[in-house]
Amino acid sequence: MPNKITHFLFDLDKTLISTKIYSDLYPALIKTIKQKFDLTENEINDKAESAKLKKNKEGVWDSGELSKTFNILESYYELLESRFKVVPVLLPYVKPVLKKLKQENKIIAIVSNSMTETIKMCIHETGISEFVDFTFSPDNTKYAKEDVEFWKALIKKHNLNPNNCLMIGDDPVNDIAIPKSVGFNTFHISSPDILKEVLDLI
Ligand SMILES: [Mg+2]
Repeated sequence: MPNKITHFLFDLDKTLISTKIYSDLYPALIKTIKQKFDLTENEINDKAESAKLKKNKEGVWDSGELSKTFNILESYYELLESRFKVVPVLLPYVKPVLKKLKQENKIIAIVSNSMTETIKMCIHETGISEFVDFTFSPDNTKYAKEDVEFWKALIKKHNLNPNNCLMIGDDPVNDIAIPKSVGFNTFHISSPDILKEVLDLI
C-alpha cells in the first residue's frame, strides 16, 4: 500500500452480509407478486425480462430490483425486515473489524449496487450503522459499480483521493478491477475469513 489509508470502502453483499437473507425471502416475494397481480411464474419472468432486469449469480432476479419493477417496494421491505429476525446475516469478523477501524479514526463507507433503502435497513438491522459514515449506491448516480463513471461520481461527491482509499469486496471485477482502474487501492474478499486481514493494513 503506497499511501496511508484513511477511507475504508466496503461492498455489502458477500463482503459484510450473507446473501442468504435474499434467497430466504425470494419464494415469499414471488408468492406475493403472483397473488397481488394474478400472474404465473412465467409471466413474472417475462415482465422482468422486458424491464431489462438481469439475473444474479444465483440465477434468480435481484429481489429488490424485481420489487421495484412491480412497484411493491413496501412489501419487499416488510419481508426483508422480518427475515433479519430469523436469518443470521452478518459475516464473521465484520463487527470487530469495523469497530477497530473506527477506533483508529478511519472513515467507513458502504459502496454497493443495492438500493440505498436496502443498505440502510441492512446496516441498521445488523447493528453496524454506528460505524458507517456514508453510503454510496446507484441511487446517488445513474451508474452502477460495473461502470467506471460510478467510481468517478463517488470520488466527486465525497471529495475522495482514491490513493488514500481501500475498496474491499468479493467481486473481482466490480469491487476490484474497475475501482483499481481509477486509482483506488483494493482488497479482494476471496473468502469471508479474509476480512480480518484488512486490519493488517492500518
Ligand atoms: Mg458483493
